[in-house]
Amino acid sequence: MPPTTPPKDRLRLAIQKSGRLSTDSLDLLARCGIKVKAPKEKLLLHSENFPLDVLFVRDDDIPQLVMDGVCDLGIVGNNVLQESALERRSAGTGHAYQIERELDFGGCRLAIALPEERPYSGPADLAGLRIATTYPQLTKRYFAEKGLQAEIVYLSGSVEVAPRLGLAEAICDLVATGSTLDANRLRAVETIFKSTAMLIRSDRPLTAEKAHALEILLRRTDGVQLAAEAKYIMLHAPKAALEAIKKLLPGSENPTLLPLAGDDTKVAVHAVCQEAVFWETMESLKKAGASSILVLPIEKMML
Ligand code: ATP
Ligand code: ZN
Repeated sequence: MPPTTPPKDRLRLAIQKSGRLSTDSLDLLARCGIKVKAPKEKLLLHSENFPLDVLFVRDDDIPQLVMDGVCDLGIVGNNVLQESALERRSAGTGHAYQIERELDFGGCRLAIALPEERPYSGPADLAGLRIATTYPQLTKRYFAEKGLQAEIVYLSGSVEVAPRLGLAEAICDLVATGSTLDANRLRAVETIFKSTAMLIRSDRPLTAEKAHALEILLRRTDGVQLAAEAKYIMLHAPKAALEAIKKLLPGSENPTLLPLAGDDTKVAVHAVCQEAVFWETMESLKKAGASSILVLPIEKMML
């Protein structure tokens, strides 16, 4: 079915075609109720039920597409975004954009790593080294802030092999679990940047229709992200222990109290907890007198 909104009034969102951010980006849209088919051959897909088109590209192209106004929105790692913004700034190219939302996926850190056997006692030990990285701008900024000199060796991939090849003495690369570093007998010594995926927006003005669609998209994104941690708790509480039990419910205000048929010494307590509910919390609730404790996931939320 062709989209009914004219192209000029449809938001265009760039997301990573295939990689670590792709599934989570598409999931976010799905959880916002926006239907987009997974990319096959097509570069651009129209949502059937929301005035939004999705452009599938390499993540490195996303900042540029948004900063140049080719796309209204993008989902990209803050590492790639900041690297690109710094590079455009140093080249004198426009680098305006806005971060609309910090997203709860794509978490990683950019870290300097050294061969395991190399002693390290602080950043001063990095002075004068050759550092291989895919993120020369962020790396340069770190060294400038520390007032240290280092030689940056740019590599577009497989940075972790640079020390073994004698290309550099250290690397600056993304780390999530550290297993790639371990496999290459490297150890992270300094984290220079912490990153998550960001929903960004072009600085150019939007038509009224696009602005309205964006407002809905952001509200739904907030709802999805709020719900991700939140839980719905139901339990039975002796009236005498009610105050103690309420205090144990993490991040919840004003729970709903309902009478229990056939037992007027107890009430049913229903509450939305804004924070994760751990086994320890449930055990404390039980100790305080609660019974029949149920913890349910929440799919969506609108406050
Ligand atoms: P493309 O083909 O789109 O250029 P890529 O190989 O550059 O893909 P991916 O490895 O898919 O990119 O990583 C995309 C982004 O995912 C990273 O820039 C970073 O923001 C985030 N990310 C999350 N966890 C990790 C990780 N463990 N290692 C690397 N990146 C990660
Ligand atoms: Zn990339």
